[in-house]
Amino acid sequence: MTVLDMRFVPDPILRRQARKIGKVLPRMKKFIDDMIETMHAEMGVGLAANQVGSLQKVAVIQLPDWEEPLILINPEITRQEGEREVEEGCLSIPGYRGMVKRSVSVRARAIGLDGKIIRIKADGLLAQALEHETGHLKGQLYIDHLVTPDSLYKITHTAEDDSEAEDEAEATEANPPDDTGSSPDRPGSSLEDKAK
Ligand SMILES: [Zn+2]
Repeated sequence: MTVLDMRFVPDPILRRQARKIGKVLPRMKKFIDDMIETMHAEMGVGLAANQVGSLQKVAVIQLPDWEEPLILINPEITRQEGEREVEEGCLSIPGYRGMVKRSVSVRARAIGLDGKIIRIKADGLLAQALEHETGHLKGQLYIDHLVTPDSLYKITHTAEDDSEAEDEAEATEANPPDDTGSSPDRPGSSLEDKAK
């Protein structure tokens, strides 16, 4: 399997409609396997074909607690109910997250690699992923659904991690380990007692 090259905003392919697949051919399996490999490598919960430079109407989804990915050929949302605000990000828009409007629950239909129809009723993260990935295949991005234009923000992981590390260092200096062993309130004293 191969990790495919990701396409990022403003690559025009992210704004193009995917083409419906007429027949599921055996060679599609290789491409879809590569999409799955790429989604895993990028640590995403979903990936649409135009994010890796193809206009085939295919998406893959794998929620964090799933053992197997869901392969969706020609996926369509057939019903949307309710409205909620959720935080979202996209592998094609690295370094940003935003608050978007999504449905509370959706129904979707697709075909699997075996050519059989898949019907899905979903809420929560799966509903969000289905709306996100079918959106990609229509040339849409989550930034089209922002709650307000300023609901998009930069994420600064490195800076956060650094400051956390500094905080820890300071905390250690402020509370040097007490090795006198005389205080009865000392955490771990009960463990020591048991060990004796
Ligand atoms: Zn995306």
